[in-house]
Amino acid sequence: MKGVVLLGNGKLEVREFPDPIPGPQEVVVRVKTAAICGSDIHMYHAPRSSSTGRDLIAGHEPAGIVESVGPGVTLVKPGDRVSVYHYIGCAKCKNCLSGFWQWCPETKGLGAHVHGADAEFVLVKEQNCHVLPDELSFVDGSFIACAAGTTYSALMKLQPNGATTIAIIGLGPVGLCGVAMSKAMGARVVAVGRRKIRLDLAKELGADDVVDATDPGARSELRNILPEGADLVYETSGAPEAHQLMLAILKPGGKACVVAGRSPEPTITVGALIGRQLTIMGSFVLPIWMVPQLATFIVRHKISFEKIVTHRFSIDQAKEAFELFDSGECGKVVFEF
Ligand SMILES: [Zn+2]
Ligand SMILES: [Zn+2]
Repeated sequence: MKGVVLLGNGKLEVREFPDPIPGPQEVVVRVKTAAICGSDIHMYHAPRSSSTGRDLIAGHEPAGIVESVGPGVTLVKPGDRVSVYHYIGCAKCKNCLSGFWQWCPETKGLGAHVHGADAEFVLVKEQNCHVLPDELSFVDGSFIACAAGTTYSALMKLQPNGATTIAIIGLGPVGLCGVAMSKAMGARVVAVGRRKIRLDLAKELGADDVVDATDPGARSELRNILPEGADLVYETSGAPEAHQLMLAILKPGGKACVVAGRSPEPTITVGALIGRQLTIMGSFVLPIWMVPQLATFIVRHKISFEKIVTHRFSIDQAKEAFELFDSGECGKVVFEF
């Protein structure tokens, strides 16, 4: 089978690998869609000396069809349409048993520690496979695997609702999921981004107000839109200036959730939280127990993530796909098989 290997320094290769064979409790999924993530872009650009990701197939956002199952598998069968959870835990430790496979001391991330999903097949444990409801597409399944999953877990911490205004900073696919899902939860949504294509997508997904952060008048526009400040902020960009904006637009007693941070230096000071009694929470992907709940939420609110996908590529076009996603002039970029 073919798989994408990220070499660092902005280089990649499509290589031939042997097709995986499932062992006990393992499943091979024939990948139908695999989406590119912001975290893949970090590996794509990592210095060439870095060992992370080298000689491994990249990618951790797959959905597909169960191709074959190993001995003892009872949760799925060949032919099932599945979304694939991208951390493989030991399934025995306290963290795994409470559904937080991303915190397992032995956890293995697809594309980071074991072969990932930008390939024709991916090998995982049976528990990593969540059967997709008929209403959901493979693209929806790929979003559940990471972008929508990260967002759902963060929004469960923030609890947006019909009485709250949420500002979403950063309109990459994760932020765009935030727009669609916060609207479904009933909140008023103010979307803040830097690229026209993504601001337009936010509007299309139902954002009540859209603010271009590159506009010199953005701060005063936000003051007009949010005279009392935002109840909630979902910060997805990781940019230091976005963390500053987050603090500036929260109202007293406001809550924010951050899912990205690129700066090795502190971007906020603890003192800034005290006077206005602000709460800042971190969130990291989603626990595996939340996956079925998220799928039900998407079906119930008739959310489709297809709109966020602006470009679809074959695996042979991996170079083009990564270059485009790296440019930011797009929504979500997916490989289709
Ligand atoms: Zn991801
Ligand atoms: Zn474990």
